[in-house]
Amino acid sequence: MAVILDGNALAANIKQKIKADLEGLGIVPGLAVVIVGDDAASHVYVNHKKKDCAQCGIKSETFELPADTGQDKLMELIHELNSRDDIHGILVQLPLPKGYDEQAVIQAISPKKDVDAFHMENIGRVLDGNFTFAPCTPYGVMRLLEHHGIDPAGKHCVVVGRSNIVGKPMAMLLLHKHATVTICHSRTKDLAEMTRKADILVAAVGKIGLITADMVKPGAVVIDVAINRGDDGKLYGDVDYAPVAEIASYITPVPGGVGPMTRAILMENTIIAAKMAMGK
Ligand code: NDP
Repeated sequence: MAVILDGNALAANIKQKIKADLEGLGIVPGLAVVIVGDDAASHVYVNHKKKDCAQCGIKSETFELPADTGQDKLMELIHELNSRDDIHGILVQLPLPKGYDEQAVIQAISPKKDVDAFHMENIGRVLDGNFTFAPCTPYGVMRLLEHHGIDPAGKHCVVVGRSNIVGKPMAMLLLHKHATVTICHSRTKDLAEMTRKADILVAAVGKIGLITADMVKPGAVVIDVAINRGDDGKLYGDVDYAPVAEIASYITPVPGGVGPMTRAILMENTIIAAKMAMGK
């Protein structure tokens, strides 16, 4: 039976350390969270982030804008936040409603305040391996592995999904830790043949039950990044959890695995941004 990689526990630990660190330094970082439109899931995520900030001693300021705000007004807000000394991190909750140029908005955020690490400059730094901010979800996975003494060096890691925010940076971070990495996607011919070769398997697709037990090598480490809402209203990952947990060595639950780690890393990135701005 697999050991559970408990993201809730490690995230709580990281947040406690952040709080103590900030109290010691006597600084209050500021995180601006911008949300456009009324997507219910996005509002849930934003509320979680506000709660995390309060727990850590970070001042959060939420900007809830109606869907018809328009690109120009949104860009104006980003420019204003870029210039504010009390705001160290800026996060725009994605996806934006239809009609917005998401890339233009992300690229307008100052790379020094880009705590999601979606700006081209930060993406380039992640590719290079010499980065200040890493994207929260893949870096959260790396921290979870590290905490449990799972070293990717020399291992065959298979990442299923190639998005800019999860799959690609995940593959890069594993590569920097000397893993041999295979990236799979919707055009991969025989997914099961690929996943069965994984010592560390990362699923980041968004399809309930995609990864079944016959697709997993016994003893593999299985990381389920996905968050899917089932017809029953509950949250599920991509991995068929119970049968896979029988044969894996380690596994992340959904919820309670990668999700809380993503949010903890967002807090860490905000502290890094604040310390840089304050020269601490
Ligand atoms: P995207 O939709 O951007 O990317 C999904 C990827 O999966 C694509 O690369 C796609 O391939 C690939 N894919 C689709 N179908 C298959 C298939 N049948 N076999 C193999 N690959 C397939 O999603 P994201 O990367 O943004 O998110 C992935 C999941 O992670 C979602 O469930 C999301 O909710 C979750 N998520 C969780 C976070 C957390 O904090 N835990 C944070 C961010 C996301 P192609 O490129 O060819 O289309």
